[in-house]
Amino acid sequence: MNTIDTKKVEELLSTPQKIAIIPHKNPDGDAIGSTLGLYHYLKLKGHEPIVVSPNDFPHFLKWLPEEDTIIKYDTNPKEGIKVIEEASLIFTLDFNDFSRVDVLKPFLEKATADFIMIDHHQSPSDFAVVTYSDTSMSSTCEMVYHFIDALGDIELVNSAIANCLYTGIMTDTGSFRFPSTTNITHRVVADLIEKGADNAKIHTAVYDTNSLSRLHLLGCALKNLTVLEDLNTVYITLSKKELNEFNFQKGDTEGFVNYGLSLNGIKFAVIFIENTNSDEDFVKISLRSKGDFDVNLFARAHFNGGGHKNAAGGRSDLTLEETVSYFEKTVATHKSQLSHT
Ligand code: 5GP
Ligand code: MN
Repeated sequence: MNTIDTKKVEELLSTPQKIAIIPHKNPDGDAIGSTLGLYHYLKLKGHEPIVVSPNDFPHFLKWLPEEDTIIKYDTNPKEGIKVIEEASLIFTLDFNDFSRVDVLKPFLEKATADFIMIDHHQSPSDFAVVTYSDTSMSSTCEMVYHFIDALGDIELVNSAIANCLYTGIMTDTGSFRFPSTTNITHRVVADLIEKGADNAKIHTAVYDTNSLSRLHLLGCALKNLTVLEDLNTVYITLSKKELNEFNFQKGDTEGFVNYGLSLNGIKFAVIFIENTNSDEDFVKISLRSKGDFDVNLFARAHFNGGGHKNAAGGRSDLTLEETVSYFEKTVATHKSQLSHT
């Protein structure tokens, strides 16, 4: 599965296809970068691709080439359904199971098209005719680069594709610092710069376009940080009231959890964010770790979520306070894994 069945892919792409490309819900830099990067590539190959996202994405991605062509199901359901129903081929990128697309799930289940999955999360579901799954990869964007390369088309990578793929590799690797960043990742990134990725501009567009209210929200999050010293663990909370006070916008809390991990000696950091949207009445949880502590397993076991070993997400239907006290109890049961230095 961590190799690409190029014969099958070439067969599926041998004539012009109507193609739907699907990222996960609340798409991040990797989900939007990889779907749009693939979109540009498939267009160059003479296909009719379109990206359909379950919902909107953060403002700091709204400069990527042709991001305005992305259909957001939550605000444009008719068009989103039409694209999925009419597609002869569906790519699913940066997620491992239909549960990760939420509102789009029933339409993907009903779809008659063949699926191609490209993803780096653990335990991929078995719905695609081609499953390119590799958990050792830094990002789905890096995989899309290898996918294009495997099809013999690396020379087709233009600046639009390069800018999209660079963005997702950069965001998913925490700017090339997480352990998933390999020598090959750096070679890919070097080639993308050669092919037109404007690295300095991308860093500025993604990281240096804060609003003042976001920085104040970060200040609030850092004030709320609690250290569980004997567990080398920290957690942050943000209540609905606090989010509203600082004019929360989608994407504003991206990366906050990493501040917890930057504390000396900390191995496990979690942020609990109460949803401001009334039809999503649950606490969203992001979990990060350093070293061997597996937050994917922790999120699966305790918070109905998943992800990777060092970065995972989950949810809780309890109140914020109840969620935190449940967390404090459960994390204590992992003391043997967390307490040693
Ligand atoms: P984040 O904390 O940035 O939302 O997510 C971190 C990682 O965990 C990402 O790779 C994301 O795809 C994954 N993830 C986030 N939320 C969930 C969830 O509810 N379920 C699963 N299976 N994975 C999640
Ligand atoms: Mn990813």
